[in-house]
Amino acid sequence: MTRVRTAIVVGGGIAGQVAAVALQRAGIRPTVWEAYARDADGVGAFLGLGLNGVDALRTVDMDAPVLARGIATPRMVMTNGHGKILADVPNGGTLPDGTHPLTIRRADLYAALREDAERRGIVTHYGKRLTDVRHTGRGVQARFADGSTAEADVLVGADGIRSTVRRLLDPAAPDASYVGFLNTGGYARGVDVPGPPGMNHFCFGRRAFFGWIMASDGEVWWFANLPAPREPDPEKLAAVPAELWRARLLDLFADDRIPAVDLIRATENVFAGWTTYDLPSVPTWHDGRTVIIGDAAHAVSPSAGQGAALAIEDAVVLARCLRDLADAPAALTRYEQLRRDRVEKVRAQGRRNGSGKTVGPVGRAIRDLVLPIVMRRLFRDGRDPLRWMWDHHIDWDAPVTAPAATAVTR
Ligand SMILES: Cc1cc2nc3c(=O)[nH]c(=O)nc-3n(C[C@H](O)[C@H](O)[C@H](O)COP(=O)(O)OP(=O)(O)OC[C@H]3O[C@@H](n4cnc5c(N)ncnc54)[C@H](O)[C@@H]3O)c2cc1C
Repeated sequence: MTRVRTAIVVGGGIAGQVAAVALQRAGIRPTVWEAYARDADGVGAFLGLGLNGVDALRTVDMDAPVLARGIATPRMVMTNGHGKILADVPNGGTLPDGTHPLTIRRADLYAALREDAERRGIVTHYGKRLTDVRHTGRGVQARFADGSTAEADVLVGADGIRSTVRRLLDPAAPDASYVGFLNTGGYARGVDVPGPPGMNHFCFGRRAFFGWIMASDGEVWWFANLPAPREPDPEKLAAVPAELWRARLLDLFADDRIPAVDLIRATENVFAGWTTYDLPSVPTWHDGRTVIIGDAAHAVSPSAGQGAALAIEDAVVLARCLRDLADAPAALTRYEQLRRDRVEKVRAQGRRNGSGKTVGPVGRAIRDLVLPIVMRRLFRDGRDPLRWMWDHHIDWDAPVTAPAATAVTR
C-alpha cells in the first residue's frame, strides 16, 4: 500500500482545474493535460452555479475570483407565455455570510479557475489529447495523440461528457443521451426588462422555453430551449447561420407576452444552436488507479443547473479521499461511495425539470393551473424542496474513513 503522491488530471475544464487545486491542497502533485489550446473557451453561453457549487469552491479557497465575475442570483420567477407568474421563489438560499448562487459566463468560469490554478503553480499542458492509459505496476502512464506520455500514481479523467477515460475504463460505458431540446441564446443591451438585476426569469412560452437575467450593468443574458424530439446532426446544426436562428426565435416567441422578441432583436450575435444531453448511469467510475469525475462520470441535463456544481463537489471529495486513505484503490472506492447516490438523484431532478419545458396545449393548461398551487405549498413557511441539493456542504477538514472492505477495486 503506497500513499498517492502524484496525479495526472485529464481535462482542464471545471472539474479538472478544481481537482488540481484540491489535490495540491491535499499534498498531491497534480499536472493538468488539456486537449485544446489555452484560449479555446470562446464567448459562448452562461450557466447557473448552485449554492452547493459556490460552497464547494470555498472549501478549497477558489470562490472569490469566480464570485467576482458572475451575477449574484438570489431569486427566480417562472411565468407562462401570457406573463402570468407561476412561481416566485428563492434560488437556493444563501451561505452563512449572505453569498448567493451565481450566474456566470462559461468562459469566465473556466478562465477564473484556470488562472487561480496557475497562480498556485499548477501547470496545464495544452494541446494534449489523451488517447490511452496503461497501468505500470507503480502507477499509470497516459498517452497523448501527439505521441507524448506522462506518468503518475493516479489519473483523474475530468474530460467531460464525451470522456475518453470513461471509454478506456469500460468500452461498454454508455454514451451521452439526447434530452429532446436545442439551446441557443445571447447577450442583449438597451432593453428594459422587468425586475431587478440578478432575478432569474424562466418562461414556459407557448412554443418554446425562454430564460433571462439582467446583469448590474444592464446587459441581459438570455437563453432559449426549442423542442426537437428527434436529435439533429450536431454538425449540421452548428452550420445553421445565426440570422436563421434569429428569424426562427422571433417566430417562436412572437405570441408570448415576455421581452423575448425585444431581447432577440437587440442581440448582436445570437449563438449558433446546440443539442442537449445527459448521461445514463455509468457503472464503472474507476479501476483502482484511474477515476472519472464531473461530466465524464455523470453529466446531468442543463435543466438541473447542477453540472458545474457537481463537478466541483466531485473534485473536492476525491482530493479528500486521496489525502486520507492509505492507497489509491481504497480512496477511489470511497470517492464513488460518497458521490454516486447524490449525483444519481440530481440527474433524475434534471430530467424532471427538463420535461416540463416541452409540453403540448393540454399539458400547458394543467401546468399553469397546478404549478402555482404546488409551488406555494412546497415553498410554504420558508421551506424549499431542493434544500438537499443546494445545502450540501463538504467539510474539507473532516477525515475520510475507509470504505467497506468488500467494495475495493484493484
Ligand atoms: C448549454 C449548457 C448549459 C449548461 N448550464 C449549466 C448550468 O446552468 N449549471 C450547471 O451547473 N451546469 C450547466 N451546464 C453543464 C456544465 O457546463 C458542465 O456540467 C460542466 O462544464 C462539467 O465540467 P467538466 O469539467 O466535467 O467538463 P467540461 O467543462 O466539459 O471540461 C472537460 C474538459 O476536458 C477536455 N477534454 C476532453 N477530452 C479530452 C481528452 N481526450 N484529452 C484531454 N482533454 C480532454 C475538454 O476540452 C474540456 O476542457 C451546462 C452545459 C451546457 C452545454
